[in-house]
Amino acid sequence: MTNLTTITAKPAPAETQTCWSCGTMRAVHFCEACGKVQPPAPVDYFTFFALPRKLNLDVPAMENDFYELSRKLHPDLNARAASQEQEWSLQQSSLLNDAYRTLKDPIKRTQYLLKLEGIELEEQSKTATEQARSSGQVKKQIVPPDLLEEVFELNMQLEELRGLKKAGEDDPALIEEIGRQKLELEEKHEALLHELHEYWKTWDALIEREQAGQAVPASERKQALDKLVDLLNRRNYIRNLVRDVSEVLES
Ligand SMILES: [Zn+2]
Repeated sequence: MTNLTTITAKPAPAETQTCWSCGTMRAVHFCEACGKVQPPAPVDYFTFFALPRKLNLDVPAMENDFYELSRKLHPDLNARAASQEQEWSLQQSSLLNDAYRTLKDPIKRTQYLLKLEGIELEEQSKTATEQARSSGQVKKQIVPPDLLEEVFELNMQLEELRGLKKAGEDDPALIEEIGRQKLELEEKHEALLHELHEYWKTWDALIEREQAGQAVPASERKQALDKLVDLLNRRNYIRNLVRDVSEVLES
């Protein structure tokens, strides 16, 4: 006779890996055996969608998973369940939405991956900029020096135009020149996005090697992450600069 105890006894299984209801292995959201919704497990967004940490995502496939899970986790559908299960269903729904929103956006996805790898990018959002301005703090921006040099002239011209507008004056030639540079910046932004998407392949290849059990040297991993950070910083800086230019031109 089979001794069930020895078969089921695993070396301290993580609490998150077994179903609260029937005790078998479960998926992140539902138990595959009994179908019961599970308490949210502390997993990252990639794991939530059962995806490897790769940057080239099959977005339509993830979208399908999202809609299927949305339906299954919908609190109305679980209205007759015990309140604890309803609560989990709500929490899982909210996790699902966060995971989906983050992963479907190429930039957010890259930033999120970096965060998982222990790298927080300098906050460069408009809100952060405004907060920094209103509090009189200098907002830190990690901008590659060569890029700063490249846009130095434009930043000076922007300052000049801001001053003129404040004084109620105008300078059509300056406005035209800044408008021309704005177009160049927009092209540069597109080019950086393209470069970033190309670089995803390098990162994904590294993950594939790891999945295949090959050891990837830490230096190589770091190099790949540094490149992603550099591309994102450049892209974010250009995006913010385009926004600043638009604001000044439209003010
Ligand atoms: Zn179960």
